[in-house]
Amino acid sequence: MLNTATSLILRAGHQLGLDDAIINDFLEPNREHIFEIGLTGGKSFKAYRVQHNDNHGPYKGGIRFHPDVNLEEVRALATLMSLKTAAVGLPLGGGKGGISVDPRQLSPAELEELSRAYARHLSPHIGPHKDVPAPDVNTNPAIIDWMVDEFEQITGDTTKASFTGKSLGAGGSLGRDAATGRGGVITLAEYLRLSGQADRQLTVAVQGFGNVGSFFSTVAATDHPQWKLVAASDTSTGLTNPNGLDATALSELKASHGRFTDYHAAGVTQISPDDMIAQDVDVLVLAALGDTVTESNVSRVKAKIIVELANGPINEAASDQLAASDTVILPDIIANAGGVIVSYLEWVQNLADEHWTEQKVNSELERYLIPAIQAMYRTAKDEKASLKIAAFMNALAKLTTSAK
Ligand code: GLU
Repeated sequence: MLNTATSLILRAGHQLGLDDAIINDFLEPNREHIFEIGLTGGKSFKAYRVQHNDNHGPYKGGIRFHPDVNLEEVRALATLMSLKTAAVGLPLGGGKGGISVDPRQLSPAELEELSRAYARHLSPHIGPHKDVPAPDVNTNPAIIDWMVDEFEQITGDTTKASFTGKSLGAGGSLGRDAATGRGGVITLAEYLRLSGQADRQLTVAVQGFGNVGSFFSTVAATDHPQWKLVAASDTSTGLTNPNGLDATALSELKASHGRFTDYHAAGVTQISPDDMIAQDVDVLVLAALGDTVTESNVSRVKAKIIVELANGPINEAASDQLAASDTVILPDIIANAGGVIVSYLEWVQNLADEHWTEQKVNSELERYLIPAIQAMYRTAKDEKASLKIAAFMNALAKLTTSAK
């Protein structure tokens, strides 16, 4: 993923006319924290926080708990966060954290101990005006609440603005849970409008049904009933129904920790989750992990529109092949930016000690996201570039002209 991100940044930078020295300077993270967390029971895990760029404001980005977490991946994800916050015009920078752990192998007590230890180790380096972490893959408001509590006990900071993605009772914002999925819906709808396809009936496949994929599906079902969810997968199985899947029922199943293999309804067929990318649909939504579509499986993709709701789900070779076959990729730094936009709104509310309505949060989300989608679309047309390169160009232009 790091190679893909680096190479796309170089391409975007060259198209902007930037010198290699300036691009390489941007690529270099400001600071990397790499440490080991030992639990009292003896288990030990490798942990990271990469603080990539704070030209525009405090470092911002999630914390991922996953066995595949490694320094290269966290670097790539931190770099993408710097581009993402710039692309949507937030006064924030980019960072990312992670622990190489499978949280399903931990007891609730071990998970809490690990989360608190992570916050404790980083407490001198993070905070409302330094670095504001958030949830990412396999982390959630409960985990963030433990981290905030730990940070508060150590530093005495009671603003709650040290982390975003908190639960509602602990300083979280209405609309944050749905924000990444909602942002994906807004991005797809705005792209369709800009390209003269606003009223199109669409079939959709969603690969990955965690927080992001499930909220994309339920928000889409409410706001765009002309889009039909015909395929969806979690890690256990893929489900298809040409007449449409029930997004709400699937989300409720996942919210109660069920698996798609447990789901049975009339007209629903189970398929291998690996076949999700090969569904004959108009729109493929990639909402799981990085490097899902690569040169080894890209030829199986049939959809002509792909929404990157995960970070870095398509590698560079696959992106090039898709571009050659006129497949439009709505890029991660725009399509999944709804999460960090509402994180920003949560941080603003915390610092001002305010609590906004969900309606206000959602309209603020649109106020940041829609102009960024329009700017990307315009740059792509003007520069004859893909939407991905265009989004990277717009972000990089802002990051490399601002004073350090
Ligand atoms: N983890 C999310 C992302 O990759 C959200 C980050 C944040 O809210 O700071 O964009």
